[in-house]
Amino acid sequence: LNSKLPGVTTTIFQTMSSIAQEAKAINLGQGSPDFDCAPELIQSVHGAMLAGHNQYPPMIGSLNLRQAVVQKVEQLYRARYDVNGEITITSGATQGLLTSILATVHAGDEVIVIEPAYDSYVPSIQLAGGIPVRVPMHYLKSEARFSYDWDLVRNALSPRTRMIIINSPHNPTGVCLDQEDLDTLAEIVRDSNIIILSDEVYEHMVFDRRKHNSLASHEELRQRTLIVSSFGKTYHVTGWKIGYVLGPHNLMQEFRKVHQFNVFTANSAMQIGIANFMEDPQPYLDLPGFYQAKRDYFRDGLSNTAFKLLPTEGSYFQCVDYSELSDVSELEFATWLCQQIGVAAIPISAFYHEKKDQKLVRFCFAKKITTLDQAIEKLQKLK
Ligand code: PMP
Ligand code: GLN
Repeated sequence: LNSKLPGVTTTIFQTMSSIAQEAKAINLGQGSPDFDCAPELIQSVHGAMLAGHNQYPPMIGSLNLRQAVVQKVEQLYRARYDVNGEITITSGATQGLLTSILATVHAGDEVIVIEPAYDSYVPSIQLAGGIPVRVPMHYLKSEARFSYDWDLVRNALSPRTRMIIINSPHNPTGVCLDQEDLDTLAEIVRDSNIIILSDEVYEHMVFDRRKHNSLASHEELRQRTLIVSSFGKTYHVTGWKIGYVLGPHNLMQEFRKVHQFNVFTANSAMQIGIANFMEDPQPYLDLPGFYQAKRDYFRDGLSNTAFKLLPTEGSYFQCVDYSELSDVSELEFATWLCQQIGVAAIPISAFYHEKKDQKLVRFCFAKKITTLDQAIEKLQKLK
């Protein structure tokens, strides 16, 4: 068979979860909570089913949910999106990303991807016939810190550049874009037709009183940006696979042409259930404090180990440098950690296309304190 994605195998998240299950390890690999969502959210979805919301909702998503999101975005980011023409509810962020790319990237178009990058971006570009152009983030090993290098992005531009994909808060590094980053990006794309695809699934997980700099809040950039988010992350329901995409009319019109033949629409009861639940903003307003406490607890637990901790400004991931412990590759280290120490992590090399070995792995701290305690006890052996 002539594969459309010859280099692709099963995702690292699935692979590490299988190894973790076999080894009966504590799974801090794949990013998902091990605790349940608010019972009121389940009641709200159940109520929507009982009320008969069980058939196709509108293709673009239920009006109630679109309204709830548009209101939230206006309150948080001071940006007004048209509830009818500038938002579509999707079956998770992954679908939002793929559909955005399929709808806008033509065969031969170049798409700039900043690595390390979430693993769905490059295959999505390839399915559209686009050419991924990879630009690394800067990693300063002496300080164990990642940062954006906008000069590299600027140098990667060509007349064929169609899109730049960004992700803040960033998976896996936890780096957040600040206002200056957005201004630099705006300056880079000014006078071009480049579209920005902004993956903001961790928008409500920003720490140390930081504010999330959504591209919605940047008046100039938002005119050329598709923003993707996920209710799975915000409401601790990664298995529900529901999210949304925001964008200006012209981009949203193209997005919907593909969306309607990709999934047509997202499931009805969850849309109504989430819309009702969103009447109370407190759950997402509480999220920074909720996850910051877990981040700090986990970091404290690792503080007297041989791991060097990278900063986590946002997201629910903690990256560590293990070079004091071992010089094996990241994949070998992650496999050893899982099988011998009993804690699963994700090698950062999985977020790069080229072979890369910076001696870094990623832990997910979206876990109950009892789970974090068990993991910390095992990781404490690594002094
Ligand atoms: N983007 C990033 C950066 C992610 O980490 C994830 C989830 N792991 C997704 C997109 C996909 O989100 P969803 O589960 O809603 O498809
Ligand atoms: N986004 C999650 C992570 O980074 C995993 C999602 C998936 O399993 N595809 O861990």
